[in-house]
Amino acid sequence: MDCITLLQKLINAPTITPQECGIYSFLKELLNPYFSFIEQDTNGVKNLFAYSKNFKKDKLPHICFAGHIDVVPAGDGWESDPFCAKHQDGYIYGRGSQDMKSGISAFVCAVLAFLYRYENALDFLRISLLLTSDEEGDGTYGTQHMLGLLEQKGFLPDMVIVAEPTASKTCGDVIKIGRRGSINGVIKIFGKQGHVAYPKQCINPIELLGSRLGKLAGVNLDDGDEDFAPSKLVITDIRAGMEVVNVTPSELKILFNVRNAPQSNVDSVEKYIKEVLEGLEFDLELKQSSVGFITHKHTKLLAYLQESISSVCGKEACLSTSGGTSDARFFGLRGIDVVEIGVPNDRIHAINERVKVSDVQSLERIFIRFLEVLLANSIG
Ligand SMILES: [Zn+2]
Repeated sequence: MDCITLLQKLINAPTITPQECGIYSFLKELLNPYFSFIEQDTNGVKNLFAYSKNFKKDKLPHICFAGHIDVVPAGDGWESDPFCAKHQDGYIYGRGSQDMKSGISAFVCAVLAFLYRYENALDFLRISLLLTSDEEGDGTYGTQHMLGLLEQKGFLPDMVIVAEPTASKTCGDVIKIGRRGSINGVIKIFGKQGHVAYPKQCINPIELLGSRLGKLAGVNLDDGDEDFAPSKLVITDIRAGMEVVNVTPSELKILFNVRNAPQSNVDSVEKYIKEVLEGLEFDLELKQSSVGFITHKHTKLLAYLQESISSVCGKEACLSTSGGTSDARFFGLRGIDVVEIGVPNDRIHAINERVKVSDVQSLERIFIRFLEVLLANSIG
């Protein structure tokens, strides 16, 4: 089956989180000649781990392709049925066409084409596919849950490609190699409420903040490095008072977030804010809501992938750590080399989501080439 036909078939299944709509049994039929399966269902979230039939050879390098089959709801205003793939003017339209059924169809077809072409590949490599159905949900019972199970079985991969849509213009122009962490914070500055005409009887927290605000709002807490942008303190809300002009408030509250590079963490953010607000009466709450990770440039995974992209697209990809979180972090946190590469993401979660046919085909070619490079290096 070619990757465009498979993509259309996947789009036609309305797999809004956490529904799976029978996709797994269909994929199992396709993969059956080369793969064994672990299927898992917890709290309505269904996961499928397909592993090549040579897993007893546990010394062989293990590459895993990962992705989510679930999609966000379609919303109103589509020009065609979001769950009936439409092929028009070189594009496939439908919910999930970019995020991320194109990635899944590209790696499924690439792996099958590769194994068909290289009969001895499984003497040198182990290959697995991990599919989940709650990435767009809270993510509790998907990838994170499966990695616990795979660890118990000794099935954790050495390297992982998550086929999320990462490209900016054309497939192969951007690889995501990590993500910043995210720290949420709340500061409360305390004063003493009073009549605006008698300022000596008041302690106004807005005035207390005034001269120090410039040291908080929008400041870089570090310089970042070649992989990460600086960690910027971004204030999202400041509130105080009762929306009247004759009473000064007793308390001021600031909400903020820091997308942190490895040079900053909860402790360093706390130290910085305490220095800025020294002498004031205040409360500070900080919570790391997600932890960052990085896959370094010298890893085999990145070297082989760049080589594959060069040979298919004629240029190297930019490496990026920007953007929000994805399931890649669960691999990264376990110290597994992981990158994300996929089709462009200009219409993800939007109406009339669509993907260029040629981008899906290049992605499949990149994955086939990657497996060839990996095989050649594993044979030695
Ligand atoms: Zn996605």
